[in-house]
Amino acid sequence: PVTVKDLRRTFGSGPENRITAVDGVHLDIAAGESVALTGPSGSGKSTLLHLIGAVERADAGVIRVGDEEITALGRRELARYRGRIGFVFQRFHLLPALTALDNVLAPLLPRRRADTPFDRVERATGLLAAVGLAGREKALPSQLSGGQQQRVAIARALIAGPRLLLADEPTGNLDSATGTRVMDLIERLAAEHGCTLLIATHEEAVAGRCSRVLTLRDGQLVADVRTGRDEPAATSHLDTDPDKER
Ligand code: ATP
Ligand code: MG
Repeated sequence: PVTVKDLRRTFGSGPENRITAVDGVHLDIAAGESVALTGPSGSGKSTLLHLIGAVERADAGVIRVGDEEITALGRRELARYRGRIGFVFQRFHLLPALTALDNVLAPLLPRRRADTPFDRVERATGLLAAVGLAGREKALPSQLSGGQQQRVAIARALIAGPRLLLADEPTGNLDSATGTRVMDLIERLAAEHGCTLLIATHEEAVAGRCSRVLTLRDGQLVADVRTGRDEPAATSHLDTDPDKER
């Protein structure tokens, strides 16, 4: 569950070049909901995700995730929080010196000492296969296409079995068949883990698969629509028709 109260983030100094990217957003997302975040370019989608994912600090307002008040956490607790959620960045942010497999494993490295390395490698390999990258485990990001890098980033975001997945245009660089496959995977894994989804997207097909669609304009939430789609926990992973009603 995610609660946001009067959240604000401003960029730039001086009155002329000051931009309020997120401007007084209030939001309540229940556990297990799948929420699409839409709105024109520059409306604040990425900034809102970065604030909820604690990649950036808010100027004002409160963010609560589960029973933690993210906006009140110190550096160490924030690092731990970031390790527990999944984040797919709009520009992937893969580590260029690491192979695809090591990129997927990277979020686990400082933690999860109880897992044997073999389990981790097996899980990472399985996730890479699930995003259609079987056999490319040893490839470096520079040897992968944009869409392939994006799929590595999605596998990485899911490696820790997060309860909250924040994804910024996860299908933005994918052809529609691969995009559908990636959304199937996200939905299936979300259902398995009871994971809450918040997905920034320009794509109708992606928004239509979510149970709720939020629209931002100039940093403000201007629409909040329930689509009538099932929550991901009730959605079969075999159901790949984006237009299907429940
Ligand atoms: P897109 O659909 O193009 O990805 P978006 O909805 O994700 O757009 P944001 O990236 O959140 O939009 O940007 C919101 C506003 O904040 C824009 O006006 C942008 O120029 C500004 N902005 C975002 N990040 C920064 C930054 N680091 N420094 C200065 N301005 C920024
Ligand atoms: Mg963006």
